[in-house]
Amino acid sequence: MVNLPNGLAAGFLDLVYPPRCLVCASAGIEGVCSACGSGLAVDAQLRCTRCAAELRSGSCHECRTFGPFPFTRGRVAAKFDGSLRDAILRFKYAYIERLDRPLGLLVAQRLRASPFRGLENPLLVPVPLHSSRIRSRGFNQAQRLAAVVSLELGWEQSANVLRRVRKTTPQARLPAEERAANVLNAFAVRSGNSPKGRNVVLVDDVLTTCHTASECARVLLGAGAASVSVAAVARGA
Ligand SMILES: [Zn+2]
Ligand SMILES: [Zn+2]
Repeated sequence: MVNLPNGLAAGFLDLVYPPRCLVCASAGIEGVCSACGSGLAVDAQLRCTRCAAELRSGSCHECRTFGPFPFTRGRVAAKFDGSLRDAILRFKYAYIERLDRPLGLLVAQRLRASPFRGLENPLLVPVPLHSSRIRSRGFNQAQRLAAVVSLELGWEQSANVLRRVRKTTPQARLPAEERAANVLNAFAVRSGNSPKGRNVVLVDDVLTTCHTASECARVLLGAGAASVSVAAVARGA
């Protein structure tokens, strides 16, 4: 193999594989193009402080329908829509791992605000995937997001607190009424990794009916977590 100077090798690779927007794949873009980038932002929507659903009236329809949720607070960057939706789908299903940073930064931005600013003893815990799904995808998207948030906020993160003890059908494929049963007893705290006394911030990519987050929170609180909050990139409903 011929050893080319770095710049020349990169130039050659750009000719063969021109850089493309990580979200819409337009050619000639390094990273995310400006059109897609404008959709990757935290919104100004009024949301429920508990489950992050959009508020249309004084009380939260999601909390009334599916709650009360065992977690204390929920935060998302924006609605699961437009280029944010495209980016999350590309991240998860086209395995564009580099999208972890722009998406993780959105979560970090939300957590910089009160009441998370100055949260005592915080611990970021990604929603775990079953080992078989990690093998097929190559990475846990929630873990990648938690790692970015951890770097940004200086909070400890651990992917070893929770584990998924059984394989479940992806929630997105099930009707709402089957989702609670699908994730019931699907998670456990790993021995030797106690969340005792910690203010846990559970990290996921999309929050929809909150059944997965609720089940994780129930297990974490049962293992002694002081509180559980939920932070996700987007709200699906
Ligand atoms: Zn784009
Ligand atoms: Zn709510």
